[in-house]
Amino acid sequence: MSAEQLSKLSLSDMVTTRAGARTGPPQTPQESPASSPISPTPSLIESVNGHKYDVSTFDEELRRRAKIGLVKDDNSIRMRFCGEAGDGTKYFFHLDDDITVKLERARVPKCSCGVAQDGEACKHIFWILGQLSSVLPQNETIQLAQDGSSVRNTHPANVLKNQGLDQFADHLNWIIEDDLPDRDELEDEVSNMLSVFEPTGALPAEFKSEDTRELSEKSRMYREFKDIVLEQASQCPSFYLRLTQLITREYQVKQFFGEINRRIDRALKALDEYIEKGPTNRSSEALDVVACAARLRNLVQAVEDYRKDLEDSDDEEQDGEDLIERLAAAALLKVLDEVTSRNYDAYADSAWGMGMSSSSPGQNNLFVCLIGLPSEEEPGFFVLDSLRTMGSHIIRHHSVALGDIEVLLRNTPETSPAYLNAFRTLLQDKRKRAASPSGGSSAKRTMQ
Ligand SMILES: [Zn+2]
Repeated sequence: MSAEQLSKLSLSDMVTTRAGARTGPPQTPQESPASSPISPTPSLIESVNGHKYDVSTFDEELRRRAKIGLVKDDNSIRMRFCGEAGDGTKYFFHLDDDITVKLERARVPKCSCGVAQDGEACKHIFWILGQLSSVLPQNETIQLAQDGSSVRNTHPANVLKNQGLDQFADHLNWIIEDDLPDRDELEDEVSNMLSVFEPTGALPAEFKSEDTRELSEKSRMYREFKDIVLEQASQCPSFYLRLTQLITREYQVKQFFGEINRRIDRALKALDEYIEKGPTNRSSEALDVVACAARLRNLVQAVEDYRKDLEDSDDEEQDGEDLIERLAAAALLKVLDEVTSRNYDAYADSAWGMGMSSSSPGQNNLFVCLIGLPSEEEPGFFVLDSLRTMGSHIIRHHSVALGDIEVLLRNTPETSPAYLNAFRTLLQDKRKRAASPSGGSSAKRTMQ
């Protein structure tokens, strides 16, 4: 439900007919304005967002408390987190300064500050009532019970039960206890979020690495900044919640693959630079064939680790998983496409490379380096190992590009037979799985 829809509801809409609150008598008789004594001091208080509360039955001290809770913006009452128990009969609100307010059906609200007693609520209870009634229309005066057990004739626990704590939490930016991350998760998540702004474009795993030897001053400073944010997020769950709403998983994923693609381009550009200017060129980044191959392998591994991290995380919603798979496949295919188009002696035409032409294809040919040579140091199939773990729909989505690469591999004598076989098996398997009715429905990932 949107905030707008929520705001259109009245509290009485939120109450079941069975509760009889719509037509029944007020739960606390003395709160009826008709029976209340006329007070010489203001009997209506108005909150900053325009809600009017009838406190005509309250004495001076109680009005003061209600005013602090309902009106004062700087009352320093802040929600840390909230929760429910007893299947929606009990709710608790953990506030700053270790204060806990408990709301239980048919009972008087309690607060750990100790001020609420003798049928009179404290400022914290009034604050909670103010939060719950902030979604009501502003044109009606809101009746409050002195002990906080009703807002417009409805027990606040019933309001929460009927509307759902999560609806209020969404609307008011509260965090629910079950959603609170533990310290390790919090640290990991804050690091993931802040890595997207890392000044040198560090990937999340690099940002979290404890090896700080190579870091620039700016990157060191940024890590300290992250520690400050982390401290704040662990003390204030609503601050953490706002961070997660701003730096969403989707945004993080897009930034990650943006950086991966930039690094792929950079590695290939550095190879071209090397081919053109040779090993003595020091003016810009230059990578020879072997170094470029190693760089590309590392990038493919970084993508693999990123995918695995998400799989291992116990995030039940797994939002962004499909996005990760789609962007991962696109980046991997880009690498494969580039590598398969570089099946030649890179140094053959270089003015400086006369002496290099005698080097072996394993050293001067990027394609042979990564796809053509079975290597004991680098077992497995470059890029293919990742593609094989992807859902059928992801592979199908790229079937044209993959088909083209298959033709190219087949017609290239340098392709290692094992690689070609594995490549064909991948395409055949995914085609078969797509064709079988059970295969289609059992696919873990679904197309969006
Ligand atoms: Zn209190």
